[in-house]
Order: sequence, then C-alpha cells, then structure tokens
Amino acid sequence: MNFDRLAVPALQGLRAYDPGHDLVAWRRRVGPSLVELGSNENPWGASPAARAAVLDQLHAIHRYPDPLGGDLKRALAQKHGLAVEQLILGNGSHELLMQFAQVFAGPGDEVVASQYGFAVYAIATQAAGATLRAAPALPREHATMPRGHDLDAIAEAVGPRTKLVYLANPNNPTGTHFTIDTLANFLRKLPPEVLVVVDEAYAEFVEGGESALSLLAHHPNLIVTRTFSKAYALAGLRVGFAVAHPGLIAVIERVRESFNVNCMGLAAAEAALGDVEHLQWGLARNAEERARLADALRSRGWFVHPSQTNFLLVEFGARTAAIEAGLLDRGVIPRPMIGYGLGDCLRITVGDRNENRRFLDALDALA
Ligand SMILES: *Cc1c(COP(=O)(O)O)cnc(C)c1O
Repeated sequence: MNFDRLAVPALQGLRAYDPGHDLVAWRRRVGPSLVELGSNENPWGASPAARAAVLDQLHAIHRYPDPLGGDLKRALAQKHGLAVEQLILGNGSHELLMQFAQVFAGPGDEVVASQYGFAVYAIATQAAGATLRAAPALPREHATMPRGHDLDAIAEAVGPRTKLVYLANPNNPTGTHFTIDTLANFLRKLPPEVLVVVDEAYAEFVEGGESALSLLAHHPNLIVTRTFSKAYALAGLRVGFAVAHPGLIAVIERVRESFNVNCMGLAAAEAALGDVEHLQWGLARNAEERARLADALRSRGWFVHPSQTNFLLVEFGARTAAIEAGLLDRGVIPRPMIGYGLGDCLRITVGDRNENRRFLDALDALA
C-alpha cells in the first residue's frame, strides 16, 4: 500500500520539520554532562514565579484549561498596550505560523519568504497547498546582515497571487535583524490585502527593543508573533501568541483547537510575564556570553554572523562536517544547517559560561 498517496496532494512528499539531533537518545547515551546547544533553549532557566505557577496548577489538571486564555491575554494586552481582541494564543508560535498558511493561502496562491528564512514557513506553505516564492537573501559579504532578509528582494517577489509573506526578525538561523524603519518602508510598498507575518521569536534579545508591534495601528495586514520559548525560558510548556487586527484574529480563531494551550503553560506564561527582573537578568547574561563566545570564535579565525539573538551562525567551511562529528563525540550538540542550504555552517546556541567553555574546548581539541 502506498500510504503517501492516501494523503491530500499538498502533503504527499512533504518532509516534516527537522528538529536536529535526537536529544533524548543523546541524553541517554551521554548523561547529564551533555552540552545541548542545538535548539536555542534558554540555559538560565525559567522565572521562579513561573515554576511556582506550574506547581500551583497540579490540583487542576483533571479540568480543561481556560479555552479563552483570558488571564494571559489580559496580562499581554496590558504589557504591550493592546486590546484583548488583538491576541490569539498558540501551542507555541509554531502552531500559529502553520495556521496562517492554512487560513490564508491555498492551491494556486503564493507565499513569499526569504532564502535562509525559518524552516517552518516553507512547511506551512506546502501543507496548505500553496507555492513558496523564496526571495534571495542578502550576500554573505553584507556588512551588518550577512545572509539576512533583503526586504527589497522580498517586495519584488510579491506578485498578484501572493497572499502571505513570512519575515523573521531577528531571523533564525542567521541571527540577523532589520530595523523598524526598513519594515515600515516595506509595508508601505505592499498591496494592503497581502498579509505580512513578522515572527518575533527573538524580539526580547534585540538591543533597543524595537518591535513590529508599534506598526500594527497603521497596518491591518500585519501579524506579529511572539513566543515564551526563548527569552522567557518556557520552551517545554509550548506557549506563543500572535497580535493583529481583531478582524483578522477572529478569522484565525476559526481553526484554533479550543484548548490548544494547557493550564500549566497559561499560568507559567502569565507569571513569567510579571517577572521582568528575571527576564532582564537572563537577557544581560545572554548578551555577555554571546559577545564572549563570538570573540572566542572570531579569534580562532571562524566567520561568525552578527547576532541579535541567543545563538550564533558560524561558518566552519570545508571542516563543518568533521567539526560537527567531533563535537558530538565530545558530548556537545550543535545544529546542522544542511537543510537550510548552509552545509558549511553550524548554529550554536549561546549556553552558560561552562557550556560555552566546553564547546570551545571540544573545538580546540579538534583543531
Ligand atoms: C523557536 C522559533 C519559533 C517557535 O517557537 P515556539 O516554541 O513554537 O513558540 C518560531 N520562530 C522562530 C524563528 C524560532 O526560532
């Protein structure tokens, strides 16, 4: 039986999202000394208030969670100066990114994203039966945004069939960031019925705190996504959200599974949002460690893409495969980039001081 043929045409031959190495198997093999730098997780851990909020939910796990996520949405609305009707919660922002294509693009439609843009955009597009148009990224030699989003090229790729544009700012895996003025200019150029998703999974890490949220009032075709997985260190609980015009949110709500965010995630995210001190502490430590790690790699002669995130894209050239294998041998997990067409690079999450030391020691042992 050809099971692939049983799937709807859009899904036949679709390759699922590749989460990198099998971390559970590696943990079993190596034990607690494993250094996990492959998934951009937060090494500093979640706010103590978020942990307490999870425990506080144990008495309630036989109940369904709040299908509206009302408390978390009100806290988010308050923090960002939004109306609750502008918000939709997701089981991670990944879920929402998939839903946008499902809702707004179908067979015959086009979706535009950048070369080296986050891998989920292509999967969402294909799963919806739409066609991806990939705009060329900026050149590797670009001074501030090597291999970053070229918003002019992206605007050029938008055509009469384009329904949706996916941007990541900062972008994963390049770590690059474009300014809010660049985005505002881009939005002015686009037809108003083309929806623009700005994935801000790493927005908290950006110096100066610029966000596309500030452009929502003037652009009803703009959708901004955020997550609690990275700066807020709640990756295991799966909470993300999107912000857009209430009319647009109401349409997306039609495909949301009613209990998509669980009670522990809702409670922990709300508590984490209230612990600004813990967030700032983690961001400061990340900035410090990222600078040290980037310096250490550059002093060893490797090309490191400038980053406004909690990871570094590092070009190891012809030695990439050997370095990856050597790191794994020494219990250090990087993220391979072959799937992105960047087989000469590895993506390295900024760990804590000790983890970064162990990564550099392993690298030096290979030299
Ligand atoms: C990590 C990441 C996400 C998804 O995070 P969730 O855990 O699903 O909220 C989305 N976009 C980018 C660019 C990411 O790196």
